[in-house]
Amino acid sequence: GSTHHVQLSPEKLVQALCQVDAQMSQLVQLFELSESEKRLRHLLVTLFQEVFSEFFPECAILPFGSSVNGFDIHGCDLDLFLDLEKTKTFQANAKEPQGAQVRMDVLGTKSNPLQAKEGAGPDSDSEDSILSDIDLTTATVPEVLELVAAVLRKCVPGVHSVQVVHSARRPVVKFCHKDSGLLGDISINNRLALCNTRFLQLCTEADERVRPLVYTLRYWAKQQALGGNRFGGGPLLNNYALTLLVLFFLQTRSPPALPTLAQLRELTEDKDQAIVDGWDCSFPQDMLRLEPSANTESLCSLLAEFFRVFGDHDFAGCVISLQEGRALPLPSFLLSEVGAKFKLGPFNVQDPFELSHNVAANVNEKIVQRFQHCCRDGAKYCRSLQYQRKSSKGKAWGLVRLFQPGVPEAEEVGPDGLLITIPFMLMACWFDKVCAAITFVLKDVLKCSCMGPAGEPLGQEPTEQSGGEQPRSDERGSLAVSPAKKRPRVEGPVPEEEESVSWNCAVWHRVWMGRRRVRRQLRHLGSPQPDTEQEAGSLEVEEKVSEAIIQQEGESLGAEPLLRFTACARVGGGQEDTRTLLYFTPAPQQGPLFQDFYHFLQGFLPRMVERYVGRAVWGRQ
Ligand code: ATP
Ligand code: MG
Repeated sequence: GSTHHVQLSPEKLVQALCQVDAQMSQLVQLFELSESEKRLRHLLVTLFQEVFSEFFPECAILPFGSSVNGFDIHGCDLDLFLDLEKTKTFQANAKEPQGAQVRMDVLGTKSNPLQAKEGAGPDSDSEDSILSDIDLTTATVPEVLELVAAVLRKCVPGVHSVQVVHSARRPVVKFCHKDSGLLGDISINNRLALCNTRFLQLCTEADERVRPLVYTLRYWAKQQALGGNRFGGGPLLNNYALTLLVLFFLQTRSPPALPTLAQLRELTEDKDQAIVDGWDCSFPQDMLRLEPSANTESLCSLLAEFFRVFGDHDFAGCVISLQEGRALPLPSFLLSEVGAKFKLGPFNVQDPFELSHNVAANVNEKIVQRFQHCCRDGAKYCRSLQYQRKSSKGKAWGLVRLFQPGVPEAEEVGPDGLLITIPFMLMACWFDKVCAAITFVLKDVLKCSCMGPAGEPLGQEPTEQSGGEQPRSDERGSLAVSPAKKRPRVEGPVPEEEESVSWNCAVWHRVWMGRRRVRRQLRHLGSPQPDTEQEAGSLEVEEKVSEAIIQQEGESLGAEPLLRFTACARVGGGQEDTRTLLYFTPAPQQGPLFQDFYHFLQGFLPRMVERYVGRAVWGRQ
């Protein structure tokens, strides 16, 4: 007889059962906008459309960017394009009979001579209104944006913090929607972004692996402090550039998982033809003419391959072209017309349409190096069993370990973290020694106290003390630093490499202030230590200095410490690298005081740690 059950293809079955694939798909579900979030955005767009139509007849408010390109995440900004083309025509036509212009009355009753024909001219009963007359064909972008900002401020309910940002590559008006907290931008000269938004959308429709792969890599990049747009600008890889890199990767698989733009152009019909700002933006508007890809790689292996491929890619030596689906060698590219205008950098990703635009021109050398380093780490991890197999012992597996945060380099640290780099010579257990030294300096030299991570008992002191040097604890508990050691035990071929130790500390006294003066006083009192002209004396002297400062401050020990922070030490680099990266995270709202303390630590801590480790190593002899 004939059976009617649905046939699962072997590929589908493998994909459904492969754990990492499931994790990647779940990531999309966790991050993407919910139906109600989408509805809110839609309502806002409708509201904006209604209000702006009153002032700019026949204008269109068009959403672009992550709200609509298929890579939406909770709370992503709402990018809007205000299309004034038809308004210009409208204005030009209306001008002829009576020389009218778009009339702005952004206070009280709105009137628009272009629209309200029956009104016969502007409202005369709104004396204190701001009247702005503007000719859209001659007005500059800043002028129009100021007008847009005025409309937003005065006439759109529930919107606040309206601000024109002229400095950006594409100037925008920023705003915030009060009830939802949604942030948004309105731009007026960014029609290309509508095209690239549609292109990204088309890619997500063309292959269902696109979204999980992009979401995974965006999150990975954010965790490694390589990417994200949170503070705008900066040297990090922006979401758009990273997404294009993933699409390029899929174009260059064998067989390809996505077509190139040149191939897409061949499938266009007359209605798809589009030239925007002089660039050919033609590609099919729907999927119907696209052949399904012959590529059947799983998400799990695509992710591993992404890391492998880009860990060794020569980003500075070529230009990534989605137009052609290949990396263009620099010499010939630079001779081309678009190449002459292209802003070359260490990371070169050509916009798919605006071919002379490097979308990653902001990325600096350091970030590229770390991107590659992280890719190589990722590739190595993806070869381990831990990546593909769920751990039976509740350990991080699959994507989870890939998403463990990385530590940025000093130059890249944002306002929410600070960093100290401690250089060291090679020796056995060097990292343990450095951690013991950090504990000693924080606890005994600087008299900080330490809570230890929540729920964890105060840990064992590292046992590397030498030369009779035992860390002492203050009875009042004003000083107990407990390093919480996390050593991931690793299955499979990945070597043990990722060590980190963290300290939760509280500072009760201004031990960073006036140390030089106290040091001088101690010397007068006959302390035998010869002080250097430099900042710091020996470990013993520095301990005494702290004690003296605490004594001078008096026992004004409040219920609350002056500062709280977490310090996290990690092995800095590769096998031969004995740098320790110490990453500081202050508790919220400690601003200037923590900055002072940190500036002091920057100079003081590495020197003290070096001294301590030097003694641990040489003291035995
Ligand atoms: P998210 O807002 O979630 O970070 P997004 O894609 O919306 O993602 P935005 O920075 O808001 O990113 O940019 C909005 C749109 O502007 C992008 O989708 C893209 O179309 C365009 N865009 C952003 N950055 C660039 C760039 N460096 N070069 C060219 N176009 C860009
Ligand atoms: Mg956006």
